[in-house]
Amino acid sequence: MSSPKERLDAIVEQGLCIGCGLCQAIAGPEVVSVEKVASGYERPVVLGRLTHETVDVIYDVCPGTRMEGLPGQLLEPSTSVDPVWGPWRRITRAWAGDPNVRFEGSTGGVLTALGQFLLTSGRVSFVLHATASTTNPSFGERTISFTHAQVLDAAGSRYGPTATLIDVDEVLDRGEPFAVIAKPCDVTALRNYARHDNRVDELVKYWLTMVCGGFATPDFTNRFLETNGIDPSTLTSLRYRGRGCPGPTVAEAPDQRVERHYLDYWGDDETQWSLPWRCKICPDGIGEASDLAVSDTWPGGSPDRVESEIDPGVNAIIARTVAGQELMEAAEREGVLVFDGDLTPEVMNELQPHQRNKKLAVGARHAAIGDAGRIVPATARLRVEELSATVPVEINRRQREGTLQRIDVGKASEAPPERIR
Ligand SMILES: Cc1cc2nc3c(=O)[nH]c(=O)nc-3n(C[C@H](O)[C@H](O)[C@H](O)COP(=O)(O)OP(=O)(O)OC[C@H]3O[C@@H](n4cnc5c(N)ncnc54)[C@H](O)[C@@H]3O)c2cc1C
Ligand code: SF4
Ligand code: SF4
Repeated sequence: MSSPKERLDAIVEQGLCIGCGLCQAIAGPEVVSVEKVASGYERPVVLGRLTHETVDVIYDVCPGTRMEGLPGQLLEPSTSVDPVWGPWRRITRAWAGDPNVRFEGSTGGVLTALGQFLLTSGRVSFVLHATASTTNPSFGERTISFTHAQVLDAAGSRYGPTATLIDVDEVLDRGEPFAVIAKPCDVTALRNYARHDNRVDELVKYWLTMVCGGFATPDFTNRFLETNGIDPSTLTSLRYRGRGCPGPTVAEAPDQRVERHYLDYWGDDETQWSLPWRCKICPDGIGEASDLAVSDTWPGGSPDRVESEIDPGVNAIIARTVAGQELMEAAEREGVLVFDGDLTPEVMNELQPHQRNKKLAVGARHAAIGDAGRIVPATARLRVEELSATVPVEINRRQREGTLQRIDVGKASEAPPERIR
């Protein structure tokens, strides 16, 4: 039988770890440290005596091994469930009422505006979310905001590794009501953890997320920096987007400042995105376990170079729960958000073709992982099998074989986490 360390390493080695940090919070930092390792990612490094019991809990909550949709008790009978977009009560175009929040935000500042509203309305004591890392400038790191200004300070998307849940046990120890704004995989991980710690459901009052196609591999970001004349080891700050929509990608190093278009960073279309393996097989980039999920609204999924020069930013908000819908509508009544017309799941498919395609492909990709004898992420309430059954047999076959080939040539594998400090 494998040792506890080998079992934890297997999640990493099979490309399933997304670096959320939760296993450190569960095992304790003296036993597992989620940190930047030789591969360039944040990964769990075993430092102390790890037990099988702890690894059993990690396998039950890790978003690499388990992704679940909205908990059943939150799915009201009046909520629609779209085959691709999951539970939804209302989908609407929106932006932050405060022009500065709209400008600073990644798209239209909706998540920042809602984080601020949750604080000022006294609904929560603080917001757990992410900001630019203080130690690895291209990464994100978890932050806790108690004030308007702090929430605004963390606006913008972090497209590097971001261990949002690294000390969530300590965040829960505060014993105060809070909101979470994080990636769908972070949200799922915390929902999973609620089965092991009652405080999660007691204290997390609002679950907010973004629609997420994945973050960039560290190698990809380093190549972008090098191509633009910046040695990644000298980087002092990297703002991926925001200050317009999407706003420029701005990298800084001593005596250097490089400003490029968002498309110069990501590439002009989806085929150029360099994503971690875990993101390629993600069964839930659309935040099904959240109260509400917030996205961009570019037709086809990418901005237009010319239009983006003057785009002030328009989000789509998908309210999935009664609490999410109540929150966004209260924010609109107070002028915190501006609404600009309701949308349908069919329109979301046009705005997010990559999300729709991945939802349909994921069943075949997971089947290939099983064919390879690897850990298949457990899923529930995400309609993975149902959606896969709607895909023509030939396309599923190609997806399955293609994924297996990628696994065979090592594209789904990582070295065991190796410490660099
Ligand atoms: C990795 C990633 C991939 C994305 N992919 C898509 C996509 O495929 N399609 C799409 O429509 N939109 C995508 N987005 C979402 C989009 O970039 C915006 O975040 C979203 O539209 C919300 O915009 P906003 O103006 O309301 O955000 P803001 O008001 O700027 O607020 C963003 C909030 O998200 C938090 N945050 C930022 N980065 C992270 C992170 N890495 N981990 C945890 N929390 C974070 C911040 O703390 C902040 O509270 C992605 C975002 C990320 C971070
Ligand atoms: S995804 Fe999160 S919980 Fe799972 S191994 Fe990675 S850091 Fe740990
Ligand atoms: S694509 Fe999925 S696994 Fe990747 S960062 Fe987004 S939610 Fe997490």
